[in-house]
Amino acid sequence: MPDTAFYERQRTALEEIGAQGLTKPERVLLSRQGVHVRLRGEDGREVDAINLCANNYLGLAGDQRVVAAAIAATSAGGAGFASVRFICGTHEFHKELEREIAGYLGYEDSILFAAAFDANGAVFEPLLDDQDAIVSDSLNHASIIDGIRLCKAKRYRFANNDMDDLETQLKAARADGARTILVVTDGVFSMDGYLANLTSITHLAGRYQALVMVDDCHATGVVGPAGRGVAALQGVADKVDIVTGTFGKALGGAMGGFIAARREVIDILRQKARPYLFSNALAPSICGASLAAIEIARGAEGDDLRRQIVRNAAHFRGAMTEAGFKLNPGQHPIIPVLLGDARLAQNMARELLDLGVFVTGFSFPVVPKGQARIRTQVSAAHTPADLDFAVEAFVKAREICGASAQ
Ligand SMILES: *Cc1c(COP(=O)(O)O)cnc(C)c1O
Repeated sequence: MPDTAFYERQRTALEEIGAQGLTKPERVLLSRQGVHVRLRGEDGREVDAINLCANNYLGLAGDQRVVAAAIAATSAGGAGFASVRFICGTHEFHKELEREIAGYLGYEDSILFAAAFDANGAVFEPLLDDQDAIVSDSLNHASIIDGIRLCKAKRYRFANNDMDDLETQLKAARADGARTILVVTDGVFSMDGYLANLTSITHLAGRYQALVMVDDCHATGVVGPAGRGVAALQGVADKVDIVTGTFGKALGGAMGGFIAARREVIDILRQKARPYLFSNALAPSICGASLAAIEIARGAEGDDLRRQIVRNAAHFRGAMTEAGFKLNPGQHPIIPVLLGDARLAQNMARELLDLGVFVTGFSFPVVPKGQARIRTQVSAAHTPADLDFAVEAFVKAREICGASAQ
């Protein structure tokens, strides 16, 4: 007898998600990723749109130099290595990329993963055990939460960016007799665009003799001098012990993650991290694209692109605020348009696509219930005209959806 009740439960769960307006539709791109894309609209028609929802902060995902580097690396190394790193999957490409990212961010060494999700899943369990403590920001990325679950260390959670609560939790961990304490935070909180207060976090960590780990996925290449991240922006890069990041956002947008830290940390992860030991080595194309993207990001062109992001973000924030939209304050190119209702966020996103602007509504469980939003992300590759077009479309979509200015 087939377990029909099992399939019935899945259908019921899907219906419940749909009834709450929480289904996440996937739009199908038909072009290269970039600030102007072609995609398939709801009725099957092809639509040209301005893309305002990619993590393509420097505009490098479709950059011809990055694409050419991926092709050249594929020609040299093949489609992939058909092996984990320690069997026969380590290529000079990997060593070069590990040296490059470590040098860029100022660490002794780094280690590559298939994704930052895997890096965060890998990092805790080999380094800490039940004698240790992890103190984690309540809004940390899902992959950090999952990684912590895989580790036996005692868990303490502090309210998002709340330094008093962080100190309370550090005191509690010390009082409970923790051997090593690791404070872990996102550098940029991706649903809000807020930066972690790493100045205070590293200061408090110093007082309680704790290590600090930062997941800088939305910052590497984007934030701080030469794009070195949030800690560099705040002048405390030398006080962060472990950084995790991704090649899937500003640094070319292919995929792949990394951990940068002191040599003994990276060496032990190479021996013990399960997503490293039991998963395929990064493909040459990803290494080639990422190396080309880092070269651009850390140089003078990167500085120009970062200045353009700052200008674009200020321009878009100003125009949207003037048009009566409620945004989270800040400077980061993540600019959430707060709408509250999940269905409104979805309907607005649908209307916006009809109007030639590609954005995505975010609702529970990605953000808390009742805090649905359209998260926009500006890129250095947007022109002021692109952004003005998008603001006009937002105003029209709000009218069509019958929502009022805030
Ligand atoms: C995007 C993101 C990740 C996951 O990165 P992938 O390389 O796509 O797996 C992890 N942490 C944070 C904070 C992110 O924003």
